Amino acid sequence: MAVKALVDSPIQKYLEALHGRVADLREGDLASYIPELTSADPEWFGIAVATVDGHVYQVGDSRQAFTIQSISKPFVYGLALADLGVERVLAKVGVEPSGEAFNSISLEPGTGRPLNPMINAGAIATTCMIAGDSPEQREQRILEMFARYTGHPMVVDERVYASEARTGHRNRALAHLMRNFDVIETDPEPGLDLYFRQCSVLVNCRDLALMGACLANNGVNPVTGVRALPEAQVARVLSVMSSCGMYDYSGGWIYSVGMPAKSGVGGGIVAVLPGQVGIAVFSPLLDARGNSCRGIRVCEEISRDFDLHLFHTSRSTSAAIIRARYDATLVGSQRRRRLAERDLLAQHGNRVRVYDLQGELTIGATESLVHEVLDELAGVEVLILDLARVVNVDQAAARMLADLSRDLTGQGRTVLIPGAANKYAFMRLVAQAWPQSQDLAIFQFSDSDHALEWAEDRLIATLAPPTDPTQETALADNDLCVTLSGEERAGLAAIAQRLEFAAGAPVFRTGEAADALFLIAQGRFEVLLPAPGQPPRRLSTLSPGMYFGELPLASGQPRSADVVARDGGACWRVPFAAIEAGLKIRLLSTIASQLAERLAEQARVQRLLG
Ligand code: GLN
Repeated sequence: MAVKALVDSPIQKYLEALHGRVADLREGDLASYIPELTSADPEWFGIAVATVDGHVYQVGDSRQAFTIQSISKPFVYGLALADLGVERVLAKVGVEPSGEAFNSISLEPGTGRPLNPMINAGAIATTCMIAGDSPEQREQRILEMFARYTGHPMVVDERVYASEARTGHRNRALAHLMRNFDVIETDPEPGLDLYFRQCSVLVNCRDLALMGACLANNGVNPVTGVRALPEAQVARVLSVMSSCGMYDYSGGWIYSVGMPAKSGVGGGIVAVLPGQVGIAVFSPLLDARGNSCRGIRVCEEISRDFDLHLFHTSRSTSAAIIRARYDATLVGSQRRRRLAERDLLAQHGNRVRVYDLQGELTIGATESLVHEVLDELAGVEVLILDLARVVNVDQAAARMLADLSRDLTGQGRTVLIPGAANKYAFMRLVAQAWPQSQDLAIFQFSDSDHALEWAEDRLIATLAPPTDPTQETALADNDLCVTLSGEERAGLAAIAQRLEFAAGAPVFRTGEAADALFLIAQGRFEVLLPAPGQPPRRLSTLSPGMYFGELPLASGQPRSADVVARDGGACWRVPFAAIEAGLKIRLLSTIASQLAERLAEQARVQRLLG
């Protein structure tokens, strides 16, 4: 199944065509300064691409094993950073591109510090820093580190190792030179030997692509879920790859391909597009700088064809992150309100403004959001920024939202940010940037509906004396009676029977036959949708002066929800059978026109929110 799906993928087809095209390129030579590397087949050519979702696409000799060589360097550098911390590592090895060949004998004048960990000198010094009680344990730790990236145990090609150990005089000279400068503080031979062994670890294209995908995925192996590198070190490793990974071609590479990468004289190249993919190519024919000729060509073409250059991005703007913008005149909360309250909201709801946000809040997108919020601020008392559909808030965006909220709060406005509770990094940043926010209502709502309900309540409270749900609302003042004549009201009162309900008592249950409608006299009533095996879902809360259970008067259908008294209350029960024909028509027309209004509002919301 999985294999079939991969074969059909457009990426797979693209890679096959690319492989076919680039296979004609026969420039370059096998590395010969390590004698054993000349036994490679110059025709070997594989490509693999691994995504941060853990999909791996492969073509050609993607399973052919070869020695990792210098591609080991950034990964061992990551291990050293994790072992010792950035300061101790930087004290020994710099991060400046050398612009010189990988095996150059270039050390910083005076200190003898190698310029960066990607040239041999820096890599040998880095390997000498790896923690461990014995050479065997250090090697074990390096192999285990690689295994976290590839997801399987790793082995050393003993022939290539022996070949390099026998002939690596230049590296030996470098190691001893660094010993002289105390960059390496103990006998350099065991560290040098470990370096030769790390370079001879066997990998294939698939392994390398996954190793790249781990770096793309913030240090976590996307297939196994195992963390290969602490998150804090990922950007450092990628940085030295992008400035120094291709040796004296590093500038040209970042210019044309635009991704951090690392090559090795075994013929491998791994490139990383952060957040997206790891790309690996294997072809042992090398150019004069020791980089795989086909490897460079493949990466150049993929980068161009898929527009992967890191500095070539089309970042989202506010248009993409604002899913909807509205105020409380246009969209109300799910809370059913009495007619008088709805009139108030229709008149003054523009004091409550909602931005329903989605996607990724980055610096650019958030900047234009903030701009728009400030432009539209006149008369706004409550600003609701709904993050429920936002997948990520970066650090800059979090700062901006914290600043905005603090400033608006300082002006006496209220900011509510529902849907933020599960965005831990965001919450942490806001708490840091604005400690007082913790005492405010800002994060107390899980969705914009509840935030809106709260804002409506407050607005209504400032505009009208609060309605006390324990206070009795006369039958004549019920919303159902607004258009009735005095005589009709009296007729309704004559057939109505007053019923008391204790807290939690049901008025009726879903599925029961319906033979009466109810007008609320006192207390709150909840309309609940029962869900098997779960707590019921609240559809709405009704208060005195509202009515319910009326639709079956027209439809004859059984009850479609439960209605339960919340804290105890009273209703007038009006039996359908007792309503005489004339009154029935008057009631139905009131019900229909109020229902039509509600439906029109819902249609408006639907259009707005999709
Ligand atoms: N082991 C090789 C060396 O030190 C690694 C060089 C490379 O891959 N560029 O020469």
